[in-house]
Amino acid sequence: MTKHIFVTGGVVSSLGKGLTSASIGMLLEHRGLTVRLQKLDPYINVDPGTMSPYQHGEVYVLDDGSETDLDLGHYERFTNSLLTRDSNYTTGQIYQSVICKERRGEFLGKTVQVIPHITNEIKSVIAKLADDDTDVVITEIGGTVGDIESQPFLEAIRQFSLDVGKKNCLYIHLTLVPYLKAAGELKTKPTQHSVGQLREIGIQPDILICRTERTLQRSDREKIALFCNVLIDAVIEEKDKDFSIYEVPFSLVDNKLDELIVNNLDLQADTLVLDDWHDLLQRLRNPENEISIAVVGKYAAHRDAYKSIYEALDHAGIAHRTQVRIQPIQSEQIEAEGPERLLATYDGILVPGGFGERGIEGKVEAIRFARERGIPFLGICLGMQCAVIEFARNVVHLEGAHSSEFDKDSPHPVICLLDDQKTITDKGGTMRLGAQKARLDPESIAYASYGESEVSERHRHRYEFNNAYRQQFMAHSMRFSGTSPDDKLVEIIELVDHPWFVAVQFHPEFKSKPTEAQPLFSGFVQAAVDHHTKRASRGAEAGVTKNEQIESKS
Ligand code: GLN
Repeated sequence: MTKHIFVTGGVVSSLGKGLTSASIGMLLEHRGLTVRLQKLDPYINVDPGTMSPYQHGEVYVLDDGSETDLDLGHYERFTNSLLTRDSNYTTGQIYQSVICKERRGEFLGKTVQVIPHITNEIKSVIAKLADDDTDVVITEIGGTVGDIESQPFLEAIRQFSLDVGKKNCLYIHLTLVPYLKAAGELKTKPTQHSVGQLREIGIQPDILICRTERTLQRSDREKIALFCNVLIDAVIEEKDKDFSIYEVPFSLVDNKLDELIVNNLDLQADTLVLDDWHDLLQRLRNPENEISIAVVGKYAAHRDAYKSIYEALDHAGIAHRTQVRIQPIQSEQIEAEGPERLLATYDGILVPGGFGERGIEGKVEAIRFARERGIPFLGICLGMQCAVIEFARNVVHLEGAHSSEFDKDSPHPVICLLDDQKTITDKGGTMRLGAQKARLDPESIAYASYGESEVSERHRHRYEFNNAYRQQFMAHSMRFSGTSPDDKLVEIIELVDHPWFVAVQFHPEFKSKPTEAQPLFSGFVQAAVDHHTKRASRGAEAGVTKNEQIESKS
């Protein structure tokens, strides 16, 4: 019988429910259990695919092409949970499905209501993940307890335990225990209120995970336990982690959370072995090199906009025992100030994916700088398209070359609309999405990185390289090192006369894990380390020459 864990959040948003849920999944997997993770988001958008990165951070894409919340990225990085369309539902999707059923007459003329119709629909999407192969389903409820939008979801998870039996469900509530400087103490009242709200709607949390800057004293835990009606051992401290998100599971283990879950749900679990994660943290803490990478994008100030890219760079750093210092740079700043001052000191330049014209010319400038200076470059999706535009204009000398996304009348539309996109007008879920295969040229950097001749990576785009220009580009030393197996779509480009210049139409960042760096990110970071070493030795040589000159003069 599959067991269910529900993770809710209280007091404030951004407490890290996604990371905590992912950490719980990771710990249970390391105790030999099979988990599935799921996020239920209370907003009305059908999926985050049409939401601005300012609103919601990056859109995380799964193999099956669903565009999901970025917390699913944490789930995939921390666990091996199978994620599909069923792993992320929003209020919009739930209502859409209920309304379609109503239109088909499935409710036989009854009045359709939040309870039971919406709550039944929510329960059915939770139950969908329970099967013979799954020991535990972890369902994270987005938003904060007390939000109007969350209520049907909370009501549904309350009812759920009546359907499957109380002993098969565990409610974990993540809350904030703030430190009040003026009083010089931790405050438990917000937690008491938040749990009070949950209890009002009939949910008694079994475990409280308390986010805090300071260590919870026994007296704090006693107070929380008493007022919130939980056992003192079920008051778990989760202290802020400045160093790395990959420490979170360890702090939960220190508080015996895994044991608590296993006992509460009566799970048959192995003893916890975390060797691979100890190793990755040890590598993170003891880097042998340090490099700096400039990420030139549209949303420099918004860390969540390129979340998976930053994580993938860190993973490659872990693999190479290298501290990767990431500097987001707004591409419009390059348009204003030129690339020299902003980019000259970096060991690698990455241009991520995106939409819209703002900042495009700055990205093109950054890529030109990387190409001309021999700085390792990784272009992703729009980053590849900008690399094609740059090459067309500055190497092939095709004046006015552009993507037809930005200039419909360009004389050289080197990036143009995919054939099957030409008639599409709806926005959500209509791009070329999800896992697609690419065949690699055995002579390429891509092949050397992957060590395989066919790879599968996730996509999210409408535009593609215009094949009418392939021959011309090849004549100027561009290598088309990856294409769709039928050779119709360009998937990877490289420059023959450059130390490491790779740009891809897909999103390799979505398949990177801390314990298993994505091959292209790994290759890019290695190239950046080499570039750094070369630059340092050139600098040292220049220093020696200067010293010699000074010595000979004296
Ligand atoms: N805007 C480009 C396209 O639709 C690139 C998309 C992306 O970078 N994800 O093709």
